[in-house]
Amino acid sequence: MQLNVGMNQFDPARIFCIGRNYAEHAQEMGAPKPAEPVVFMKPATSLVPEGEPLVLPRGRGGVHHEMELVVALGREGKDIAVAAVPGYVAGVTLGIDLTLRDLQSKLKQAGQPWELSKSFDGSAAIGRFTSWPAEFDFQNLEMRCTVNGALRQQGTTRDMLFPVAEIISFLSRHWRLLPGDLIYTGTPAGVGPLVPGDTIMLEGPGLGPFGWACV
Ligand code: ZN
Repeated sequence: MQLNVGMNQFDPARIFCIGRNYAEHAQEMGAPKPAEPVVFMKPATSLVPEGEPLVLPRGRGGVHHEMELVVALGREGKDIAVAAVPGYVAGVTLGIDLTLRDLQSKLKQAGQPWELSKSFDGSAAIGRFTSWPAEFDFQNLEMRCTVNGALRQQGTTRDMLFPVAEIISFLSRHWRLLPGDLIYTGTPAGVGPLVPGDTIMLEGPGLGPFGWACV
C-alpha cells in the first residue's frame, strides 16, 4: 500500500507498535508500568486507509479499538539520539490498533506472543498523513475517538510514559529504521468493543476527522 506523506510517497514495510504507553490504559488492562517501551509489530498488510471498510474478525472474541498517534519516518537511521529524532519524522496521523482483546488475554496468560490478537489482516486503520515542521511538539496533542457519535477515548500525548522521540530512539537501537516505517505510539484509556455496523471516527488538531465503517 502506498502512503502519501506531504510531498513523499512511501510503501511501508513495517509497523512498530508500542503497548502500555499511557499509565491509565496500562491500569485499565491491569498491567504494570513498563520500564522500557513494550514493542510489537504488525505487517504492512494490516493497513486499512481511511474510508475503507474495517472488516472485524468473526468468531475470535471481542474486538477493541485503540486510538493512537501514528508517526511515519522519512529517513533511514540507526542509533538515533533523542534530540535528533524530529529530523527523521516525515509526518503524523491518527490510527487504530485493532485488538482481539479476549484472544490477547489468553495469549498473555499463556505467556505467548500477541501476534494472533494484534497483527491480523485489517488490524491497523490509518488516517491521512500530515507533514509537520521539525519543531512540532509531539507531546502536546489532544485526540478523541467516537463510536457512533459517542465519545469513547479522549487523550493527550502529554500523558505518554515514553515520549515519541524516546520511542524512536529506542527502536533505532534495536533496528535500522527505514523511510516509510510507521510507529503506532500507544493508546490512552477508554478502549472498548467494536461490532459490525459501528462507525468509528478519530480526530485531533489538524488531523482528521478520519472515519471507518465496521463490517
Ligand atoms: Zn495499541
